[in-house]
Amino acid sequence: MPNYSDPDFGNIIITVNPRARRVIMRPVVDGLRVTVPPYATSGDIKGAIDKFRPQLINKRNEVLNRHQTTDEEIRELRKQAKTFLPRRVAELAYMFGFEYKDLKIQSSKTRWGSCSGTNSINLSLYLMRVPEHLIDYVILHELCHTVHHDHSEAFWHLMDEVTNGQAKALRHELRKYNTA
Ligand SMILES: [Zn+2]
Repeated sequence: MPNYSDPDFGNIIITVNPRARRVIMRPVVDGLRVTVPPYATSGDIKGAIDKFRPQLINKRNEVLNRHQTTDEEIRELRKQAKTFLPRRVAELAYMFGFEYKDLKIQSSKTRWGSCSGTNSINLSLYLMRVPEHLIDYVILHELCHTVHHDHSEAFWHLMDEVTNGQAKALRHELRKYNTA
């Protein structure tokens, strides 16, 4: 079965090994490596990943937090970010009726994103390593700043409106991830 993309891990890289007795999963910096027996179906693989998903997410965070990003990896992340982020920002802005001036992709290691007083949004290319629902959280956070340029109660109220009341929970979840 071909490699595929998972919302939490990004790339699922599959290797078939005739000697494998079961599905073996190993989190790596750019996704999840999965070694499978020849007879494993895509359902077997997805089932195994789902069963251990929370543990695998924690493991991958450890891998990412220990990892020193190379220049080549930064180039690759930038490429991915330039393909993915502008489209997703436009989609979410359209969906919730936000207006922003422009979007820049930066290699910031200290923040996931920011929004200027003139509603220019900056996003870190390291976002490409966090689960998609947390990328959306960061994008929505910056889009809400186009309306409230602070972290006032009104800001968090708007955040809750666009995240189904999950704003604080998502913020908490994002804290498990480091930018670099
Ligand atoms: Zn903010």
